Amino acid sequence: MASENKNQNFIEEIISADLESGRVKEVVTRFPPEPNGYLHIGHAKSICLNFGTAKEFGGRCNLRFDDTNPAKEDTEYVEAIMEDVRWLGFEWAELRYASDYFGQFHKWAIDLIKAGKAYVDDQSAEEIRANRGTLTKPGVDSPYRNRSVEENLDLFARMTAGEFEEGSHVLRAKIDMSSSNLNMRDPVIYRILKREHHRTGSKWCVYPMYDFAHGYEDAIEGVTHSICTLEFQDHRPLYDWFIANADVPSVPHQYEFARLNLTYTVMSKRKLLELVTLGIVDGWDDPRMPTVCGFRRRGYTASSIRRFCREIGVAKADSLVEIELMQHCLREELNKTALRGMAVLDPVKAVIENWPEGFVDELDAENNPEDASAGSRKIKIGREIYIERGDFMEEPVKGFFRLSPGKEVRLKHAYLITCTGFEKDADGRITEIRCTADMDSRGGDAPDGRRVKGTLHWVWAGDAVPAKVNLYGNLFTLRNMNDMEDGKDYKDYLNPDSLRVAEGALVEPSLAKAAPLDKFQFLRHGYFCADTTTTPEKPVFNLTVSLKDSWGKEQKKQG
Ligand code: ATP
Ligand code: MG
Repeated sequence: MASENKNQNFIEEIISADLESGRVKEVVTRFPPEPNGYLHIGHAKSICLNFGTAKEFGGRCNLRFDDTNPAKEDTEYVEAIMEDVRWLGFEWAELRYASDYFGQFHKWAIDLIKAGKAYVDDQSAEEIRANRGTLTKPGVDSPYRNRSVEENLDLFARMTAGEFEEGSHVLRAKIDMSSSNLNMRDPVIYRILKREHHRTGSKWCVYPMYDFAHGYEDAIEGVTHSICTLEFQDHRPLYDWFIANADVPSVPHQYEFARLNLTYTVMSKRKLLELVTLGIVDGWDDPRMPTVCGFRRRGYTASSIRRFCREIGVAKADSLVEIELMQHCLREELNKTALRGMAVLDPVKAVIENWPEGFVDELDAENNPEDASAGSRKIKIGREIYIERGDFMEEPVKGFFRLSPGKEVRLKHAYLITCTGFEKDADGRITEIRCTADMDSRGGDAPDGRRVKGTLHWVWAGDAVPAKVNLYGNLFTLRNMNDMEDGKDYKDYLNPDSLRVAEGALVEPSLAKAAPLDKFQFLRHGYFCADTTTTPEKPVFNLTVSLKDSWGKEQKKQG
């Protein structure tokens, strides 16, 4: 089933042509994470590309753990990766582990030795590096390069049997020490590592290198289009060399696309792990992390992430994508789906002095003005309410349409109130606002039709629930983390204000009942989701994204 779409990305174009020419019958892709960390948003792009493209062409996509390096891998990561892929909305055709193929890789390595195309090198890692040459200087042959096949077979068998120390011997492909492509200068294909592997235990003490293993993994699984990031472009000749020099069951091809980079964040697992282990963030799923689980806890939806991945497209040149585009995709969705609620983050009490003693009114509040089917809820109001401290000014500046002495505002869904006075403490801090309500304005409209500009959110003192609200900002202050000054570390750019906590916030009762990850629009504030730690007694919310859509605005201006 070839797609006819004219807006195909270059990978879809290649696949369409391959299906048309008959080079491939069924599209097979794979998503091959190394289980050495949690998935980040860059991986999400790769997931959407691999799973999405296979689906689009009626093919299949495997989830394959590229677990060839026991030093850094862990079962915790395997579980987390599976959860994230599923959460993003994809299901693998087959679950595979590169470690399942260790036996086959080893046989192919022996085949290479027998064919005179691989040799055991006794040089140290430093010597190998030094003798590799540079872009302008050819490499120097290892003194062990011309060992006999017998000697190589014997040494490799003894490496495999655990007779040698780590670092004392490696197996190298015998290709071309003067190749203009440094990757082709006799790359290491096996090394000694005396580590427990999370799946094969202590069975092996030699492990294959990524370049050697990856193409073979693809060949074993019948992968037709092996999609990876641009930094592997120079490795492609090597990928093809390994495939051409083994008796493989299928011939895969590698295609490279540009890595996703996002503004104000780092994307490498090594750095993300460091943020976690140093305690700079509260775990891999800290809502400031660019991990899939971090975005989930922040309140992002899988569909908005998929849409974002579609919008950014698939390019052949690296670029930096604005975080605002991700926020825009999410905001557009949440505007249609998130239930509205009122939360006062920095409360100050307001007393409605003409309110009938003991009277509690119950009002109708629509749950989502964008979606009639979301229905409405009842909200209660009485004599004492809380409003946002920032919604009151003793001496209003020009253009301030909120509450100030003598001014009238609307309480959302409720009544018009006019400020009649206020109290201050010794420090000049407002402690209480006094006002009167127009008791004929129930629902928020003045009976005489007078215009009231400002509308405030509020909660009733009688049923508001104290909540903790985490207000998140960017984790880093530098827009493009590739622009770090010389000698600086990415941690020098941490944003000290990436988390502000509104400890004394008050939320309306409907919000307090939220289950973890339920999403809301807090009126006039933004989109929030209930944190994974929320309880009805002690609700906790995370700021997902503010209401202001700078990205959408910018596009409109340009469009
Ligand atoms: P990192 O450098 O962050 O540790 P990685 O490339 O080592 O990432 P892998 O687990 O090896 O992580 O990656 C699995 C797949 O995800 C690979 O095919 C890789 O090309 C892809 N991938 C990783 N980072 C990005 C990114 N920023 N944008 C797009 N694809 C990515
Ligand atoms: Mg990697």
